[in-house]
Amino acid sequence: MARRQTIDPLVRSKVIETWGNACWLQLPGCTRVGEEDDHIVPYSHGGRDTVANIRRACKHCNASRQDRVLYGYGVRMHMIVVPPGSCDREAVDYIDSHKSAGDPVVSFTALAAAMGLTSPSLAERRAVAMAWSGAYRQFAISAAPIDVWCTRTTPSSRRHPRMLDEWIALDYDVQVIDPGFTTEWERATDDAGRKRVRQWYALHLSQSLVDARQAERRQRLIALGLRSDSTQSPSRPEW
Ligand SMILES: [Zn+2]
Repeated sequence: MARRQTIDPLVRSKVIETWGNACWLQLPGCTRVGEEDDHIVPYSHGGRDTVANIRRACKHCNASRQDRVLYGYGVRMHMIVVPPGSCDREAVDYIDSHKSAGDPVVSFTALAAAMGLTSPSLAERRAVAMAWSGAYRQFAISAAPIDVWCTRTTPSSRRHPRMLDEWIALDYDVQVIDPGFTTEWERATDDAGRKRVRQWYALHLSQSLVDARQAERRQRLIALGLRSDSTQSPSRPEW
């Protein structure tokens, strides 16, 4: 991490000439102008100081990305977003029918169960949320080409209010599974549950919205030489 600013000025000018000087990440809070050299394959993972491996990023995005990898350049993150009542059902069904044996699953419900919590209090829910975030942060920087499946009810948190934007920027696989308001409403067992259902539907999350934003993002990644034009699936890095 500490070596970032010692890149050969000739490599940097070639990077700017090839890929431009706009921030490649455009995370929430982006200032748009490239101020730093960002390694696509992080330096800590053996990414080198080459034109192929460097894009320009603003200070804010470079810091907030940390060493999280772009989908396919190491870990492949699958984020399954479900309404609050459905974690146990549709998300698990979806993951079971898509994952390979041995893929890690990071689920709030499973973590709570592992802690022996059946109806967690607010403090206990926070502890579970910390466990979820810790697992997410660690997997998101993995250099190994593993598939990780995370379930979440809202693609945001107090510390990261625009988590969905970050997932789209890093081209994660994002699946919104929506069994429908009526189903969710009927599954809610108390007023607190019904309130969570109402709040979730007020977010207006939908797969078609995510797909449209991802299609736009992938065009940008193609222009940046980080995705191939011919296929939706990311190519493996060759450096
Ligand atoms: Zn930026």
